Amino acid sequence: MSDTKTTGGKVEKSEAEWRKELTPMQYAVLREKATERPFSGEYEHEHLPGTYTCAGCGQTLFESDAKFDSGCGWPSFTQPALESHVDEERDVSHGMVRTEVLCSKCNGHLGHVFEDGPGPTGLRYCINSAALKLQPK
Ligand SMILES: [Zn+2]
Repeated sequence: MSDTKTTGGKVEKSEAEWRKELTPMQYAVLREKATERPFSGEYEHEHLPGTYTCAGCGQTLFESDAKFDSGCGWPSFTQPALESHVDEERDVSHGMVRTEVLCSKCNGHLGHVFEDGPGPTGLRYCINSAALKLQPK
């Protein structure tokens, strides 16, 4: 971790460092914006209470209280634990207009947010399990 740069609270590492620290699946999702196959992730049906942190940098991202079964095949949350911990960006790849969700600390790709979630936010944060690490309470 000695050559990890933190600039303005951001974690910046070379692709080689990320490759070393992450599993191939975590690397593909966080750094290459891959999407894991639906219904394949380890947290899709996770119901343990706890905090979901970023698999790349450990920043708190979602609380289990905000998790719900959307049936979409990926872990889904109604809101982030802290708004400032996720960045949202317009994503027009794959012929769709979506809103990409990124970790605000390491800029890792997490998933997408859709406006078809349950109340009160009406949002569905559709997040790859590989981008998350559950810290059980
Ligand atoms: Zn992160």
